[in-house]
Amino acid sequence: EGRIVFDNVRFHYDQNRPILKGIDFEVPAGKSVAIVGPSGAGKSTISRLLFRFYDVSGGAVRIDDQDVRDVTQESVRSAIGMVPQDTVLFNDTIAYNIRYGRPDATDEEVKEAARMAQIHDFIERLPDGYQSEVGERGLKLSGGEKQRVAIARTILKAPPILILDEATSALDTHTEREIQTALDQVSKNRTTLVIAHRLSTVVNADQIIVLEAGEIAERGTHAQLMAKG
Ligand code: ADP
Ligand code: ADP
Repeated sequence: EGRIVFDNVRFHYDQNRPILKGIDFEVPAGKSVAIVGPSGAGKSTISRLLFRFYDVSGGAVRIDDQDVRDVTQESVRSAIGMVPQDTVLFNDTIAYNIRYGRPDATDEEVKEAARMAQIHDFIERLPDGYQSEVGERGLKLSGGEKQRVAIARTILKAPPILILDEATSALDTHTEREIQTALDQVSKNRTTLVIAHRLSTVVNADQIIVLEAGEIAERGTHAQLMAKG
């Protein structure tokens, strides 16, 4: 479950400027693909089409052989989890932030997801910048900790498809190492689309697509692309 197909996808935000110019790729269920390329290449646009924030201008996006235009936006979005680089937290407890997306989850399930993402120590606290009714100040979370809140949320939601956005801002290498285990755990056996700037950060993806100006310039495994130089 969660097989993604982009079939000759073309897209433009404005009539005159094509952004994606015939994108073809397939991600088998449970496998991962990394979309790598410079800023402006169209990487985020690919994830927005998958989410159905926009519809394609030509071609089709399919999930499990179903054109995403033939299912409701809600069901498309509920099938996809997103771990952005910069996680913005709501003005409520970390536990609330983890539960967001699956309000029916039990306290035990929330705790278990927090434990897997290694943030269980402070789930009853508010995030930084907020203050509780009794005056307790919010907890200052590092970028990596915020990202682990998003990871815990995704573990709890357990969607078949996961988007990891590593392109929006660079985490320092220490933080990257810190969250790698949690990321590996959440992407395991789940169809995963990684958005990244650099080839060096997506060594473990099953397939890498190099996007340039809305076209696929190269594709292959990390080893194959490294051998080409
Ligand atoms: P990337 O994620 O690779 O940096 P994007 O998919 O965000 O690239 O953007 C691809 C191109 O589409 C860029 O030229 C960008 O300026 C343009 N673009 C992105 N979003 C919009 C929008 N909402 N309206 C018009 N153009 C947009
Ligand atoms: P940008 O900062 O490049 O303009 P956006 O803020 O539109 O991009 O979105 C950043 C990423 O987060 C995109 O890849 C988009 O698919 C995803 N995204 C945006 N809004 C939501 C949302 N409400 N739920 C889940 N993912 C979202």
